[in-house]
Amino acid sequence: MHLTLTSGEQLPAGKVIGLVGNYAAHRVEMGHAPDLEALHFFLKASSALLPGGGKLFLPKVGRIEHEVELAVIIGERARRVRSADAMRHVLGYAVGLDVTARELQALAKAKGLPWDEAKGYDTFAPLSAVRPAAEVPDPHGLDIELLVNGEARQRGSTAQMLVRVPGIVERLSSVMTLEQGDVIFTGTPGGVGPILSGDRLHARIAGVGELRCDAVEA
Ligand code: MG
Repeated sequence: MHLTLTSGEQLPAGKVIGLVGNYAAHRVEMGHAPDLEALHFFLKASSALLPGGGKLFLPKVGRIEHEVELAVIIGERARRVRSADAMRHVLGYAVGLDVTARELQALAKAKGLPWDEAKGYDTFAPLSAVRPAAEVPDPHGLDIELLVNGEARQRGSTAQMLVRVPGIVERLSSVMTLEQGDVIFTGTPGGVGPILSGDRLHARIAGVGELRCDAVEA
């Protein structure tokens, strides 16, 4: 699997990490307190990446939902990096969708099982071209939105992230080495909702890019 930069250059994709509950509005809609006590995360299968968007395949596993997210792509290897030094490890940013089989996730939560299945189906991680960090002076003040069939479903700002990019890199790199091509989905603002076969998804982050997907039955 390869990521494409906005320059057209390609880069092998590494692991894919997703953050849990990094926006208060999404925490509340999922039934949690708005504040974050600790930043938790999961690994999303790298085979789920859908670089450049395209056909998003919907398996028949109950409700499947969209989560539009700013994705951080790692450039320079990061191990136990402090937040003050974190930004130099960031290669760039992309628009991502952390597609989630919500009923499978609810079942996994109830039974104390991992989320791998709920998060890991093929094409469950559409990702736009990667905009170099030098072209994104501040990743924390960007309008982020998702339209489904032309109708706004999710709208927010990356300013609402509870833990920002430097803190995210510090936290994750304290656990696992971040390597070039690793992709971090930084959490979704509120307004998650179902994806149905035939839906046309259009995700945008101002100053980063856009991503289009067509949902079809798997
Ligand atoms: Mg997510």
